[in-house]
Amino acid sequence: MDGKCAIVTGAARGIGLATADLFREAGWRVAMVDRDSAELARAEASRGDALALARDVSNPQDVDAIMRETAAWAGRIDALVNNAGVAEFGPIEDCDFEMWRRVMATNLDGVFLCTQAATPYLKETAGAVVNIASISGLRASTLRVAYGTSKAAVIHLTRQQAAELGEYGIRCNAVCPGPVRTKLAMAVHTQEIIDAYHDAIPLNRYGSEREIAEVICFLCSDKASYVTGQVIAADGGFESTGVGLP
Ligand code: NAD
Repeated sequence: MDGKCAIVTGAARGIGLATADLFREAGWRVAMVDRDSAELARAEASRGDALALARDVSNPQDVDAIMRETAAWAGRIDALVNNAGVAEFGPIEDCDFEMWRRVMATNLDGVFLCTQAATPYLKETAGAVVNIASISGLRASTLRVAYGTSKAAVIHLTRQQAAELGEYGIRCNAVCPGPVRTKLAMAVHTQEIIDAYHDAIPLNRYGSEREIAEVICFLCSDKASYVTGQVIAADGGFESTGVGLP
């Protein structure tokens, strides 16, 4: 993988940070994007040679800057990992339009904007896109009207991207993580949800950031050179069971 460059959004912590670390271990250069500049600075300081970009993926000007600055730094973009995400749970009657828009702005608009802006660069390298969706986008549940819908849309957007960009050799896939104990998840997972996941997941446990990162990096690597348009659940078997969740 020497000399290649990946952009990972939402890379200041959680799954994005684990993914940035794994890319670097494999010899890639990594642009770490996050709108939380303080957390990004902490992550970058302990890691050295990455490019840290304190930008918001839901802002079109920021997104253009991400691509320009990364290309100026590395001379190329080989992979884009659209990982930045937010979660807000609540029943449909409590999901006001501001909450709906906050979730869609990052989870869906961000994936669209980043992929669109990266496409000219990815055409040059026949690069890869990995969109981080969720098992919440595969299966409906209570409390996730905005989050689940945003992730279902990301799954379809991935297929659109794969259909359209395949002629340039650009591969686009989605990863649907099961539950991982990140800041995002632990802010919305009640004890009821934690217990339900334990029982519904055949492996009876949450996943780790690293277990998700391994799948993401595989999909960006040449080992996945004939894989595109796929939606891959890394979820301990949850999706295979059909057991419901709150
Ligand atoms: P996290 O909160 O630890 O990390 C998300 C990062 O994204 C944060 O650093 C945050 O500042 C950043 N971010 C949010 N909005 C942004 C924006 N508009 N622009 C730039 N950066 C932004 O969460 P995580 O659990 O590591 O989540 C990573 C992805 O995995 C998300 O897309 C999430 O929906 C998805 N996911 C997580 C789980 C889980 O259980 N943790 C399960 C399924 C899917």
